[in-house]
Amino acid sequence: WRSTVSCVVAVLKNETLQSRSFIRGMKTVTLIPGDGIGPEISAAVMKIFEAAKVPIQWEERNVTAIQGPGGKWMIPPGAKESMNKTKIGLKGPLETPIAAGHPSMNLLLRKTFDLFANVRPCVSIEGYDTPYTDVNLVTIRENTEGEYSGIEHMIVDGVVQSIKLITEQASQRIAEYAFEYAKNNQRSSVTAVHKANIMRMSDGLFLRKCREAAEKHKDVKFTEMYLDTVCLNMVRDPTQFDVLVMPNLYGDILSDLCAGLIGGLGVTPSGNIGANGVAIFESVHGTAPDIAGKDLANPTALLLSAVMMLRHMGLHGQAQNIQTACFNTIQDKKVLTKDLGGSSKFSARLKSGLWLGHSKTII
Ligand code: NAD
Repeated sequence: WRSTVSCVVAVLKNETLQSRSFIRGMKTVTLIPGDGIGPEISAAVMKIFEAAKVPIQWEERNVTAIQGPGGKWMIPPGAKESMNKTKIGLKGPLETPIAAGHPSMNLLLRKTFDLFANVRPCVSIEGYDTPYTDVNLVTIRENTEGEYSGIEHMIVDGVVQSIKLITEQASQRIAEYAFEYAKNNQRSSVTAVHKANIMRMSDGLFLRKCREAAEKHKDVKFTEMYLDTVCLNMVRDPTQFDVLVMPNLYGDILSDLCAGLIGGLGVTPSGNIGANGVAIFESVHGTAPDIAGKDLANPTALLLSAVMMLRHMGLHGQAQNIQTACFNTIQDKKVLTKDLGGSSKFSARLKSGLWLGHSKTII
């Protein structure tokens, strides 16, 4: 399976060299395959992009944790240079050791490129049976501060302190982004999710900035709701929500809950958006070490993240074709991976031509 992909890549490179017009239309994207199942699902996306004739060439870069001067953890220079050049990345999952070793390279990437907004659309897939059917919402999570600022201290033995950092600037930026996103994506309401009744100063500041942004965007309906009330209402009737904006930790948890409504992490995409068009798109699941290398991984989440990426790049036609192909394949139910209730191995599905053959729209 990997050697097939290598051949495809080699042929693509060859064609790229031969055709000048092809080169002119091509955009370059940094591909970070990641750890565990990352390389398998990245290879699957590349193969599907090739079949869909997406005018993209990949610049593949590994993100392994390395230490710079003074023991500071950093992004490998090759990956950093590539991202600085291309501005757009597609990323597989990266492993984070628990409680020791290097810090999360995901967080480091977000900080390094100031990717302040984590955007996760959660949309029910027609024909794929889940307890909820008409979910169509987007969580927008502040991505750079809150409890994930990494400021922790041991005060005395047995007592530790984590600082929740909320700033006016970051709150204003994410609130503004949520309203702009709603307008640009034909969505009608934004809900600010908070606990300002308890976290009066920090969430109070966040909420104030959301209210100020709402004043500027009166054409978008604005509501505010406590995080616990959102959770209750979400499981009762998720269709009442449209765009939700919230601080970092709440977003991390609530967005997984929302992923559960539409069938789990295997089908949920995400994008990390920064200023001036810089963005990294990634599946929300982890490295799945229990199934890595066994040809059991579901590539859908990374593929749908790549579809988000195409829309971000203005390649709407290709994005729609691939999304339709993907949803048709899931609706068909013949070739579902195990996590979606099937028994198919992904490479068998590709080999049989079912994935691509079924979806005439992309060929
Ligand atoms: P995980 O998402 O890797 O796995 C949870 C369960 O879901 C496992 O049973 C796994 O087999 C299954 N699963 C996940 N993705 C799947 C897919 N595409 N197809 C089929 N099944 C899938 O979560 P975890 O085990 O808690 O984390 C493993 C590692 O991944 C950790 O090191 C963690 O830090 C890292 N992680 C990285 C990211 C990221 O890079 N964005 C996100 C979450 C976790």
